[in-house]
Amino acid sequence: PEGTAALDVRGACARYQNADVLHGIDLTVEPGRVTALLGANGAGKTTFLRCVLGLMPVHRGEMTSGSVTVLGREVTRASAQRRIKAGLAIVPEGRRLFADLSIEQNLRIGASTRRDKEIGQDIEQLLERFPALQRPKIQAGYLSGGEQQMLAIGRALMARPKVLLLDEPSLGLAPLVVDSVFETIASLAQDGIGVLLVEQNAERALQASSHAVVLQAGKVVRSGASAELADDPVIQESYLGVA
Ligand code: ATP
Repeated sequence: PEGTAALDVRGACARYQNADVLHGIDLTVEPGRVTALLGANGAGKTTFLRCVLGLMPVHRGEMTSGSVTVLGREVTRASAQRRIKAGLAIVPEGRRLFADLSIEQNLRIGASTRRDKEIGQDIEQLLERFPALQRPKIQAGYLSGGEQQMLAIGRALMARPKVLLLDEPSLGLAPLVVDSVFETIASLAQDGIGVLLVEQNAERALQASSHAVVLQAGKVVRSGASAELADDPVIQESYLGVA
């Protein structure tokens, strides 16, 4: 229905063994918009993504309270697979491709929760959309960093997500390649996907997003329109290198 958030997280609290790491995080991603999640190392960004995906138990942690809702459907207690079926997909930090498998095989892995007959057709469309992937039989390990990032994004898109989580997509890429990754992210939002962008590069993330949430030690310390946050003196000092 209209007005339904792509992703809505309320009061997320999480811990690993004995360490409490998230203390009540609220975050909403609207369809067709990019929301940025910013914060220094250790602020809890990756832990937040694990809560959204239902992966805390894999890392011997737990989401202790709060809720996760995807397109109006609560998935707080659902398996990661169910959440993917509900509309989530992730482009993980470091891409995590299968280097020995081909581009096409990596893309098919992204479709592993689907049962429809349009997977081949979606691969064709992705190859057209991302020229970097136009050699589908080549092994992923032979691709450049930028090409690998496009493949990681393509693999996530094979799940036909409504909400795309990107963990540090610009990390380790040359500036020109970073530009094309951000152009791609913008085009995905134009297609109507709700994007959650986790970035160390706060300047680029604020430019690329409409809204942003800033975490510090597991709490939201700022949230709002990205343009306003970019003008906030505390944000400038802490994250944008403006003295
Ligand atoms: P980074 O950019 O370095 O990934 P982050 O903002 O993503 O930082 P998290 O990785 O979520 O932060 O870490 C938040 C806190 O949780 C840190 O204090 C970290 O040491 C701790 N932590 C992360 N993963 C685990 C784990 N598997 N077991 C115990 N503690 C963890």
